[in-house]
Amino acid sequence: MLPHEDAILNRARLFAETPIPAVERAGILLPLPLTGPYDYKLPRGINASRGMLVAAPIGPRESLGVVWGAPEGSVGDNRLKIAEPLEGQPHLPAALCDFIDWVAAYTLNPPGAILAMALRSRGAFEPEARRIAYVKGDTVPKRLSDARKRVLAVAEDGLARSVPGMAEDANVSPAVVRGLIQAGALKPTELPEFAAFRAPDPGFAAPDLNPDQSRAAQILRDAVKDKAFSAHLLDGVTGSGKTEVYFEAVAEALRQQKQVLILLPEIALTVQFLERFAARFGIRPAEWHSDLSQKERRRVYRAVMRGEAHVVVGARSSLFLPFAALGLVIVDEEHEQAFKQQDGAIYHARDMAVVRARTENCPVVLASATPSLESFVNATSGRYSHLKLASRHGIAVLPEVRVVDVRREKDGDDNAKWLSAPLRQALEQTLGAGEQALLFLNRRGYAPLTLCQACGHKFTCPHCSSWLVEHRYKRRLACHQCGYEIEAPAECPGCKEQNTLIACGPGVERVAEEFAHFFPNARYAIASSDTLHGPAETQGPIRAFAKREIDVLIGTQIIAKGHHFPQLTLVGVIDADLGGADGDIRARERTFQLLHQVSGRAGRAEKPGLVLLQTRNPNDAVMRALADSDRDGFYEQERIYRERAAAPPFGRLAAIVVSGHDGDQVREIARQLGKAAPPAKDIKVWGPTPAFYALLRGQIRERLLVQAGKGVDMQAYLRAWLAKVKIPASVRAAVDVDPISFF
Ligand code: ADP
Ligand code: ZN
Repeated sequence: MLPHEDAILNRARLFAETPIPAVERAGILLPLPLTGPYDYKLPRGINASRGMLVAAPIGPRESLGVVWGAPEGSVGDNRLKIAEPLEGQPHLPAALCDFIDWVAAYTLNPPGAILAMALRSRGAFEPEARRIAYVKGDTVPKRLSDARKRVLAVAEDGLARSVPGMAEDANVSPAVVRGLIQAGALKPTELPEFAAFRAPDPGFAAPDLNPDQSRAAQILRDAVKDKAFSAHLLDGVTGSGKTEVYFEAVAEALRQQKQVLILLPEIALTVQFLERFAARFGIRPAEWHSDLSQKERRRVYRAVMRGEAHVVVGARSSLFLPFAALGLVIVDEEHEQAFKQQDGAIYHARDMAVVRARTENCPVVLASATPSLESFVNATSGRYSHLKLASRHGIAVLPEVRVVDVRREKDGDDNAKWLSAPLRQALEQTLGAGEQALLFLNRRGYAPLTLCQACGHKFTCPHCSSWLVEHRYKRRLACHQCGYEIEAPAECPGCKEQNTLIACGPGVERVAEEFAHFFPNARYAIASSDTLHGPAETQGPIRAFAKREIDVLIGTQIIAKGHHFPQLTLVGVIDADLGGADGDIRARERTFQLLHQVSGRAGRAEKPGLVLLQTRNPNDAVMRALADSDRDGFYEQERIYRERAAAPPFGRLAAIVVSGHDGDQVREIARQLGKAAPPAKDIKVWGPTPAFYALLRGQIRERLLVQAGKGVDMQAYLRAWLAKVKIPASVRAAVDVDPISFF
């Protein structure tokens, strides 16, 4: 019997039955930004339960929907439409439904908008496609050529193969295989659309852990065995083996037949990670991110839902996958800002990962060398277990960090704009010794501003309040906010003068130009997100660096994270002050994290590393903490500062950004919102004021900020407030609970 015969028979039986009137009803949530679940009728005899997938008519169309709960009941039976349960589909796990409700309530989004994120692979719910493959048939032809004999010998093992697969295994042409099919010596069979995911092997290449690592790994293994919620901060210097340690927890989850979710801040990091995972567990994990094809999404989504994908590595959207048996969540580089989703539903994937673990009743591990202050406070106050790895694994030691005061290090060479004399000397030594160096500047392109010397004209984006950044290789000026681009102009559009335009400030391309001037023989490459597109291309310069095909890598923050280059002994930070000046409460923390992370690339193997920080503020707390390797002192200072300011995590913040194309309307709605803010104890509302990007992608933006005490129910306050003002459809009021940046 063919695999689909059962289904055909069942369908035939269904059609044979007389229709039964529908009487059951349920609240059904559609993946749309509606206020909540709607009532639908269900066919009689259906045992509806939370998470059951249905096809629900809405207007003239049909939508995927999910049985969410009891019906609301106010609409008469005769006016309700019928939702049909999808045949042969597993349910959305109830824990995922709970999680969706929770995220919706916390972020003030309609639950349907969050459900939409959990149903990202529509194709996953369609009947599964099948592939035709061939096995040995019942007849044996009389005349058998050698080629035909080889094919039948291969088919002897009973495995189903495609025509090309069979031809390849038997080393014959596909025509020979087709001939045998016609003769009935091979017969068709159906296979699932996708090959099954193989299970990673927890014992494939387990390392010998050092005593610090063993202690931490034991605590995590026990937590996985407990099958209960617990949160752990895996806090270890770069190179201390955090990944090796949480891999032990992954291994334990695999032994317990549980699934694991590993969240990484950026897709660019996944490629290397997959390989590293395969080295430890013998096989690559499943991946989930925006770069996957529809087909690949369908495959992973289904496998996750059926418990067949054991480990998923993904970006923040993988938080909403329908795991059948989630037993462990890991958030690597937990301090990364990229975990905050800024468009659509605004949420922080790290925080929501903790919530997901709680709804799944499993442990969550947050890993970082420079934790967010929030996690650090949670760990030091005992709310999370604090697992510390104090030293690098093996003989590697932490690099020496030196501060270079660029105001004092004037040197005679006029060509030296961005590379100070001490940095050039260090580069010379490093290259002379046959070692590698990294030059870091968190700015893409050639120069962040182009200015006319004659009239002062500045090139700005017509759609955003930002400058156009020169990209010299592409001969273009581009807006990094919206992607608007123009060709690099020959004359000033203001005064029409020629040769008056000058580049102000450095980007990585300009640093590379200066580097090439001083080191004409060195092999170097630029790595930044505009020379590199998909995760595969990111790997080009980075791989070349890892393979020692180049000596110097000049890049933006994409080179700061995760990579392990044994021969890299010098890191030069071109402008350590970048990012320190934007005045929000996390500016210092972020600068520290980024510079610490970049510094951590140096000296990860036998040879000791050196880091040079070029700065104009050598006595700044961040520079001092880095030079004295006093991370905990820095965190303690930040903690006190935040506590005094009643800033997070000692107080709560929320932002409302009002935006739209009509500036007057935006300002008016923002003003009405400001006036409507209900007075409440322990809550202050600031604004409206123009947002940092008062113009972004053509939208005028005003923002309001709510500052509240720790005990305040921020969501209740915001809900009551927003209910008081009618927001027209042409204006958007985006709520950002726990904002982390203030653009
Ligand atoms: P982190 O994630 O803390 O930066 P990693 O887990 O990447 O550190 O470890 C740094 C390097 O040291 C990696 O190459 C890793 O394989 C190696 N390493 C760490 N711990 C061990 C161990 N116990 N045995 C062998 N190699 C280890
Ligand atoms: Zn723009």
